[in-house]
Amino acid sequence: MSEIHYQDIVEEVKGMCQRANTDLGDDVYTAFKKALSAERSETGKEVLTQLIENADIAKAEKVPMCQDTGTAVFIVELGQDCHITGGSLIEAINEGVAKGYGEGYLRNSMIYNPLNRKNTGNNTPAIVHLELVEGDEMTLHMTAKGGGAENMSAMKMLKPSDGMEGVKEYILSVVKVAGPNACPPLIVGIGIGGNFERCTYLAKKSLFRPVGARHPDPEVAELEEELIGEINRLGIGPQGMGGSTTALDVKVEVESCHIAALPVAVNLNCHASRHQTVVMK
Ligand code: SF4
Repeated sequence: MSEIHYQDIVEEVKGMCQRANTDLGDDVYTAFKKALSAERSETGKEVLTQLIENADIAKAEKVPMCQDTGTAVFIVELGQDCHITGGSLIEAINEGVAKGYGEGYLRNSMIYNPLNRKNTGNNTPAIVHLELVEGDEMTLHMTAKGGGAENMSAMKMLKPSDGMEGVKEYILSVVKVAGPNACPPLIVGIGIGGNFERCTYLAKKSLFRPVGARHPDPEVAELEEELIGEINRLGIGPQGMGGSTTALDVKVEVESCHIAALPVAVNLNCHASRHQTVVMK
């Protein structure tokens, strides 16, 4: 049994929020460079060059890479042999987010609720998904999820008779409707299966896999590759200015579902794909 103290979680979360907003991950940065060398449109190349420059400035000067500093979304893999001491895990995460955003001068984007639209003033509450796992470690995965791309995400309960062609058609339609509004080049997260709520979680979870990492199941990996090609042939391009880079990557997660169901969720992530992982024990 390991003991993880409340205050240590607060400090880790604070750091994660600040690093996520200023230090673009190597996976996304490498994907920008790769896209720049493959991009066919001159305007597209110009936009990608600006995104690389923007990421460099954010990292060097420790300023946020985008004015939208996002909703703090966490997936916590909590080992069943971990004991959180000194307070609750959710409170520790929220205190860490409040400190991270406050002390990092990051924009507070959360409101109490859509009825009153009053800003909570510290970017909380975080959205926390808990997964109970074996062992005595706790792994915190965090993303600062941009509002523009989240707004253009969608979910649909397809019919089993729609088949894989229907699934692909739906995914492409969501990306087409999003166009420039989701701030491409995108990382397209897809959930297939589960039920209504599980499917959207799968789509979100897929976005935590590093850009460029294919799904371990060859059948799913093949679908990811196929969708990258199809999406990039849409011609939306970087920032919607036209070009061959609409998606930096496509991630698919698949799970069991009811015989009568074919749920599909598409969670779009923008080029400011900010994620951090910390393991605590
Ligand atoms: S969707 Fe992403 S790139 Fe667009 S404004 Fe929000 S954080 Fe920035």
